[in-house]
Amino acid sequence: MKIRDVRASLIEIPYPRPFVPSWAPEGAHRTMAAVVVEVETDSGVVGVSGGDMGHGSGPLLLATIRDVIRPLLVGHDLFATEHIANRLRYVAQYFFPRPWVVGVAVWDAVGKVCDRPLYQLWGGTADEVPAYASFGEVRDPAQRVDDALAVVAAGFRGIKLRVHSATVAEDLRQVAAVREAVGPDVMLAVDANQAASRWRYAPDGSRLMWSYERALTTARELSDLDVAWLEEPLPRHDYGAQRRLTAESPIPIAGGEHNRGFAELVRLLEDDCFDIYQPDANESEEIHALRQFGTMVAARHRRIIPHAWATGLGVAGNLQLCASLPSCEWLEYPYDPPVIVPEVFQVMLAEPLLPDPATGVVRLPTAPGLGVTLDRAAIDQLTVQRV
Ligand SMILES: [Mg+2]
Repeated sequence: MKIRDVRASLIEIPYPRPFVPSWAPEGAHRTMAAVVVEVETDSGVVGVSGGDMGHGSGPLLLATIRDVIRPLLVGHDLFATEHIANRLRYVAQYFFPRPWVVGVAVWDAVGKVCDRPLYQLWGGTADEVPAYASFGEVRDPAQRVDDALAVVAAGFRGIKLRVHSATVAEDLRQVAAVREAVGPDVMLAVDANQAASRWRYAPDGSRLMWSYERALTTARELSDLDVAWLEEPLPRHDYGAQRRLTAESPIPIAGGEHNRGFAELVRLLEDDCFDIYQPDANESEEIHALRQFGTMVAARHRRIIPHAWATGLGVAGNLQLCASLPSCEWLEYPYDPPVIVPEVFQVMLAEPLLPDPATGVVRLPTAPGLGVTLDRAAIDQLTVQRV
C-alpha cells in the first residue's frame, strides 16, 4: 500500500478572551494556531494528525509539507515506517525542526488499515490513562485556588501549575494555596518553563532566568508541599546541571519536551538528567521511536510522562503513546478555563477526548489508529491556509 498524498490545513481557533501563557514573552495570545495533517493512501484510507503551531511556524510547516515532505513520501510504502521516520529526520535536520505530526498521520493510516488502535498495535494494554489538568497561566493564588477546586470538582485527580513569578516566595504562594485547598490526595506538579531561552521571561515581558540555586531552592521548598515533580527548571542543553539537580533534588525533576530528536533524548537518558522524561509525539521525535524510547526509560528505572500541551489531535497522538508505554501514570490534558477548554482546543474533532467526570481518566478510543474523527465543517470554517 502506497502513500498517494500528504495534505495540511492551518487553522486559527479564536480564544474567548486573550490568554497569557506563563512562558510567552510576546504577551497575550488571541488565537490558537493549529495544523491538521492528512496522509492518504492509494486504497483511500486517510490518516490524520495535528498539533499546535505557535510562534508563526504553521506556514513554515505547510510550505515544508508542500515542497519537501510530499515529494519524499508520495509513492512510498505506508508500512515502511522506519524509512518514513528517517525521511522525516532528514526534514527535521535540514528544513523544519518538528515534522513529526506527519509521522503520527502515517501511523493513524497504518492503524486504520490494520483495524487496530495504535496503542494495541504497539503492545499496550492500558485502555484508560489518568489525566492531569495542565494550567497555562500564572494567576494570583486566590484565583488559582478557585480554578483548582473547579477542576477537581470536574473529576481531575492531578493538576500542574506554572510558576513564573519574580521571586521564589511568590511562586510558592500559589502552590501552597492550591495544596491547602485541594488536600493531600490530588497530584500536584509544577512547571517552570525554563528549558527554552525564548521562554525565560515573566508574563509581564521581563527576563526571568532561573539560576541553579533557584532551581534547587524551589525543588526543596516544593518538597514540603508534596509536589510530584518540578518540570523544566534549567536550560534544555545544560546536561551537567540537569543531572546534578536531579541527583540533589528531594523531588523528581522532569523535562525533555524541548529536546529534539532521538540522539538528544538518549543523551539526556544516558546522562541521567531527569527522573521523568517528557517527549511529545508532535514535537520531539517520530511517535513510534518515542514508544521505543519509553522502553529504554523503563529499563533505566526512570519514568516517561509525555508532554501534550496541544490541540485535540495532538492530545490524541500522545494519548496513544501513553497507553502503549510499559507504564505511564498520567496524560497531560490542557485545561485552563475559560480559554483552554475542550470546545476550543478540540474543535477539530467530531467527538472530543474528555476525562471521566467521576474518575478523571481519559478512555482510549476503540476506533482504529488514533481513533478520532475530524469535524470537517469546523476545520473548513477555521482554515486560513491549505496545501
Ligand atoms: Mg512543560
